[in-house]
Amino acid sequence: MLKLRNQEAIKTTLKSFFKKDLNLLIFFVTSKCNLRCKYCFNAENLSSGENDLEFSEVKKMITRLPSSIRSILFSGGEPCLRKDLEKIIGLFVNRGITDFAIPSNGVATKLILETLKKIARKYPQTSLVACTSIDPLKLAHDHLRGPGAYQKAIRTAKGIVHLSQKRKNIIPLVNSVVAKESVPFLNQFIRLVYQEIKPKLHTLDIVRTNPKNENDFSKFSDQDYIKIKNARMSIDKLYRGNDLLYSFYKKRSLILTDIQKKIIKENHSWPVRCAAGRTSAVVYSSGEVAFCENHKPMDNLRKHDYDLSKILNKHKEKYLQMTKKHKCDCNHLVYLRQAVEYNFPIVWLNSLFK
Ligand code: SF4
Repeated sequence: MLKLRNQEAIKTTLKSFFKKDLNLLIFFVTSKCNLRCKYCFNAENLSSGENDLEFSEVKKMITRLPSSIRSILFSGGEPCLRKDLEKIIGLFVNRGITDFAIPSNGVATKLILETLKKIARKYPQTSLVACTSIDPLKLAHDHLRGPGAYQKAIRTAKGIVHLSQKRKNIIPLVNSVVAKESVPFLNQFIRLVYQEIKPKLHTLDIVRTNPKNENDFSKFSDQDYIKIKNARMSIDKLYRGNDLLYSFYKKRSLILTDIQKKIIKENHSWPVRCAAGRTSAVVYSSGEVAFCENHKPMDNLRKHDYDLSKILNKHKEKYLQMTKKHKCDCNHLVYLRQAVEYNFPIVWLNSLFK
């Protein structure tokens, strides 16, 4: 069964690779959040949800979605705090979309597990990547996210792994954001996640630079980058050591960390063009639409009959020019990884000569 799902995932990835059409929607399904993390890039949009799109509005948006959309990455706020999440997923499923990623901060353990269980049972044809954010280690996690958050996140992640043994369409994942203060704990933490939580995959992101943030958590030294690179490679070895594509993942980790270092420390441009806006789009909980999470929203679905394509097409040229000229290169791992994968031979050759 899992093999089959892996094949499906590879098929979806290859389709996206060759087609490079608008295939991913990042949907901030609610502005409600039960944490206030110090490095949250979306802090200014968090609220009690009063301006969130109503279910009927979400329905209109989904009905008019371009048929090329194949995957939904939920964001927030905390997605499971949206009471009708299960119904919303049902609307996507009716449109033939079955790949979902549902991240969580892991605080509301019971709610998260019940929500996932209901969705997985009701829509067995879906692939639900259930990702818990846990930072290395307790001291850093609780300092950045709030007291007690670490233990709750660990409990949730273990619960999701347990749930995935019965509900095979749930794929448990742990994502960790590395900030300056958590670098010393990386190795110990990676072992802990692997041995005690046992997710299908562990990913390591670097905290996003946020000029509005009073603290800068991304002031890494050269030594820190080496540690992050090694940590990413040991994750590859642990989780993908037996995978046919292991060498590719290892090389990708090396390249990505080097690029992120150059962007953050030396203000470099990306070696290739960002695909945001061409292959993915962002819809915020209030209906605001953006080409990526770092650009300001350009318009609102509420003003355009909930038609995402209409908005993207209207503003497309300006953003495409921006990425073409590398005017906005950032260190957002999701977009950077996608751009690197789409252009791997170029990026790889590039890395050999630097
Ligand atoms: S490089 Fe960063 S800011 Fe620019 S479009 Fe891509 S994700 Fe957005």
